[in-house]
Order: sequence, then structure tokens, then C-alpha cells
Amino acid sequence: MVRLVRDLAGIDEGGPRPNDRPGAMARRPRPMMAPATTSTTRRRRVLVTGGAGFIGSHLCERLLASGHAVLCVDDLSSGDAANIDHLRERADSGAVDFETMRHDIVAPLEAEVDAIYNLACPASPLAYQRHPVQTTKTAVYGAINMLDLARRRDARIFQASTSEVYGEPAEHPQSERYWGNVNPIGPRACYDEGKRCAETVFFDYHRRYGVPIRVARIFNTYGPRMAIGDGRVIPAFILAALKGEALTVFGDGRQTRSFCYIDDMVDFVVALMDCAGDVAGPMNLGNADEVAIIDLARTIIDITGTKSRLAFRALPENDPLRRRPDLGLMQATLGLKPRVSLGQGLAATVEYFDRLLSGAYLPGEGALLAGAGGSIACRSARNP
Ligand code: UDP
Repeated sequence: MVRLVRDLAGIDEGGPRPNDRPGAMARRPRPMMAPATTSTTRRRRVLVTGGAGFIGSHLCERLLASGHAVLCVDDLSSGDAANIDHLRERADSGAVDFETMRHDIVAPLEAEVDAIYNLACPASPLAYQRHPVQTTKTAVYGAINMLDLARRRDARIFQASTSEVYGEPAEHPQSERYWGNVNPIGPRACYDEGKRCAETVFFDYHRRYGVPIRVARIFNTYGPRMAIGDGRVIPAFILAALKGEALTVFGDGRQTRSFCYIDDMVDFVVALMDCAGDVAGPMNLGNADEVAIIDLARTIIDITGTKSRLAFRALPENDPLRRRPDLGLMQATLGLKPRVSLGQGLAATVEYFDRLLSGAYLPGEGALLAGAGGSIACRSARNP
């Protein structure tokens, strides 16, 4: 049963989406050519669901750079074809083996792949609360459909779970042994409970059918290619700062999060997928540096040099007050630690949004760090 729907390139979107980029254009699909690979790792055919999204597009890029063939599946509900335009161009020139398919994983999928990264799901509270039922379906039916595909294909499958499974945590920091504290009927439940149920089916397929799984609980991640209309705190604050508008802090701003830069997160995701042994997880992935939201706002004001002020608004219902990962398992198993500090990552992200707003961003520039831990030149409209 083949459900190849439509190639991302040839689709008329029927009007702009909230996160459309200025100048983003549909392109005609062209035949795929043989890739030039330089990697010494075993070449795999890898499916990335949500591959046109923020984390997904960076992951596709990384997998292609390692010489794998990548099939990117996305329904473009929160992803953006512009995130992968540069990869399609590289495929057109024969440099990489990259295919795209527009498909909603709520419907079953058949594809000849031998590894699956399941990232498809809106992840910003704004986006998932806009379509709560669809969010739960994507999380749960999508997980089941991808697990069925993994089972048929004997493929290893990675699940992008989330720190949201901990809800409003009664333990701090949150380790994988903590079962969480989620309101099952609250406004965040469509995502939180959807992802919790997805973990359930992952472990049942693993125990019952022997499907090789890797379940990661991804903590707050940020960086270039977050959508303009995303609504999560880092893009929201940076965009407000660059436009000289007030940064809207929810509550008193003393709630905390621990933010991981995209380059580090992609390292962790790939390392968990590739590591030897029966490492089903769940495993926290992220950066343990905890910051209060009000301090984050002040840091972004400093980096951008904006004259923006802070505005305060009521804390949304069930907004967790504290969140910090216990990364002991990640560090012991993968031997990895985050390399990008919040200051470095924010500077790179500010530069990205600045260039995007001014029309100077070239698709495919991706993360602007010159290697993790490298120096970053931050330019902004107010801080040239
Ligand atoms: N937040 C904020 N202003 C915004 C967006 C978010 O103060 O414009 C706060 C939000 O209330 C939460 C934190 O920033 O406490 C992180 O929110 P985000 O939506 O980025 O992710 P979450 O971790 O809540 O899923």
C-alpha cells in the first residue's frame, strides 16, 4: 500500500501560512540523481517525519552530510518547505540523495527505509493548542503508523518525545525515572498526553514485537529556522526586540526553562539513534543550564541592543514553573555534553532572525555558528 501523496515542491499551499517566510516559493520536483557520499559510516535509507520542521530540517541536513539517503515526510502544517529548499537544490544537482513527500502521518505510510526518525508534531504551545485534536492524532496515530512501518521494514525507530511528559514537575531536576505530573484535561494535554501515549506504544511495540526503539525526551531547543509565527519564547522575544516592540513576559517571569542550541540537539539525537546496545530510553536530551524567563528577556535585550521594554501578561494555564533536565543518563550513555552556551546560541539566533527580517538570509545557511563553541559575530539592526 503506497501512499505517496504529493511532493512538497509541487504544492500550491492555497495562501500563506502563519510561519511563511518572505520570498518562500514552491519549486518543481526534479528526478533524483545518485549522491556523492564521502562518509565512512554505513549508508542508510532514512525516513525523517517532520523533516521540514525546525529540528527535522537540521537533522535531514546532518544525515545527508553523513552520506545517508533521506526521505523527508511532512504535511507542512507547522513545517516550512523553505527549510529544505536548499537540500532539494543539492539533490537536483546530484550532490545528495534527498526525497520529499507531503504526507500526514495520521495516515499509514509505506516506504523503503531502514531507519526512521519520528519528529512530526507541532511543538509550540501556540501551534498545538490551535489544533488540539489533530495534535493528539499526530502524536498517537502517527507513532503507531511509524511503528508499523518500522516493524514491517525491520527498521530502528527514533521517537521525539518531550520534556512535556513531566508536566508541572514535582521533582527537580527531572530524571527519566520521574513519571511526571500532567493535567490530562488541560490546554497542554493534547501534546503532553499525546506524547506520553506515544511513549507507551513505542515501549509496547518494543516489548511485544521486538521493534528496536530509541525514545528521547527533548527539552526546550532553539536556533535558526524556528518559524516567525512559532510563538515559543526565544523567537518571540528576539523578534520583538529586533522590531523594537515590547517583550511579553508571561507571569512574573520567574518560571524557568533550560535551553539547548539546535546544533547540540542534533548531535544528541543522532548519537542516541546510532549508539550500540539496547538503549531504548527514554533519555533526556538537552542542556541543563536553567534560566528564568525574565533573565532570558534581559539577555536578549542586551544582545540586540534594543530599546524594547518588558510587558507582563498572565501566566497561561498549566505553564510549568520549573524545568531542568537531569542529563546523567545522556552523558553516561552517549558521552556527550552541550557545547554551545546560551549566549552563543542566542547571538546566532538573533543574527538569523535579523537577516531573515532584512531579507539577507540565504536558505540553507542554517545554524550560523562557525562550529560549536566557535566565535559568533552578532549583527542586528540596532547593533551593527
Ligand atoms: N513565554 C513568555 N513569553 C512569550 C512566550 C513564552 O513569557 O512570548 C514563557 C512561557 O509562559 C513559558 C516559557 O516562556 O513559561 C517557555 O515557553 P515556550 O512556549 O517557549 O515553551 P514551553 O516550555 O512552555 O513549552
